[in-house]
Amino acid sequence: GTSMIQTDAVVIGAGPVGLFQVFQLGLLDIKAHVVDTLPHPGGQCIELYADKPIYDIPGTPRTSGRELVASLLKQIKPFGASFHLGQEVTSVAPQADGRFLVETSHGTMFLAKTLFIAAGVGSFQPKRLKIAGLDAFENSQLFHHASESALFAGKNVLVVGGDETAIDQTARLAQAGPQQAKSVTLLHRRDVLQAPPEVLVRFDALRINGGARFQVGQVTGIDSEDGKLKAVRITDVDGNTSALQVDMMLVLLGLSPKLGPLMQWGLDMERKQLLVDTEKFSTSIPGIFAVGDINTYPGKKKLILCGFHECALAAFGAAALIFPDQKIQLQYTTTSPKLHKLLGVE
Ligand code: FAD
Repeated sequence: GTSMIQTDAVVIGAGPVGLFQVFQLGLLDIKAHVVDTLPHPGGQCIELYADKPIYDIPGTPRTSGRELVASLLKQIKPFGASFHLGQEVTSVAPQADGRFLVETSHGTMFLAKTLFIAAGVGSFQPKRLKIAGLDAFENSQLFHHASESALFAGKNVLVVGGDETAIDQTARLAQAGPQQAKSVTLLHRRDVLQAPPEVLVRFDALRINGGARFQVGQVTGIDSEDGKLKAVRITDVDGNTSALQVDMMLVLLGLSPKLGPLMQWGLDMERKQLLVDTEKFSTSIPGIFAVGDINTYPGKKKLILCGFHECALAAFGAAALIFPDQKIQLQYTTTSPKLHKLLGVE
């Protein structure tokens, strides 16, 4: 059966703010479980601008989305948070004892004393092809995130998409050495691919040497047999349809954030944002805090640095609930032996 994880804190969202929430909780000796729909941490920083520079992180004149996330992960390491990735939090239900029952799309269940919603602009969901019957092959022959090459070894693979990610994955599967796919076709609805010139040049070379194919058209149907996906029907710009034998499909059409389930948790909202106080960043339900892009209050600015500040105050708000008999002291990481112990830097 499914096990129930009992914990002091669940953080919903592993974007930069959710990650820093783990740090601030850690300083107050509160261990957290982190859930994200994406298969990796980083939120918008990784999905929307991994390699673009960021100049306004305090004390860091220049970093990038990817580098910031890497530093945050390093910074929170001492606190040993458990990550539950590739699953969306679908429901949150207050219990009679004041805790919250939190459930994910994978059936992971938590009973948490406090909850931190760091859901940003919503849960990042891959854009899907709307083809009857296709969804049945999810995670067996249909994938929406780059997975290990081994899964595609010796297979006829169709990659659908036209951006840098789609091109990179096509190239990766075509050149995976002993785990190489049998054939890799990149399918895009237009004959123009969207990627930096050097990526296009490399992809052209791969096409010319026969390592990968490029086809222009749209998936308009599938053929299956004995519960297996056998072929994909592709309609070209002139309306001609042909079948392509396919064992595996990797659909990389980008991600779009969806607020989704969060709207149903009974929290006060204003224009799709969670209303919070600015003392502890509590939502309208005590014990549920909201930090980062998902919250709103007078003067709110959707900046990472503002989110970081919110995490610190939310952590103190939670500590008061988790340790009701203790007076929570502010301590400095520079000088506090207690914090040094928690940070593992004694
Ligand atoms: P997000 O980064 O959006 O992360 C939220 C995470 O929560 C996502 O991974 C999502 O999948 C997950 N999630 C949501 N709902 C659920 C659910 N129900 N279950 C499971 N997981 C869920 N800010 C700056 O300060 N400086 C900049 O220079 C800067 N540049 C930017 C450039 C661009 C192009 C963009 C788009 C934004 C930029 N920002 C910048 C804004 C900054 O990225 C956001 O403020 C920041 O990402 C907010 O972090 P977050 O953790 O609150 O949310």
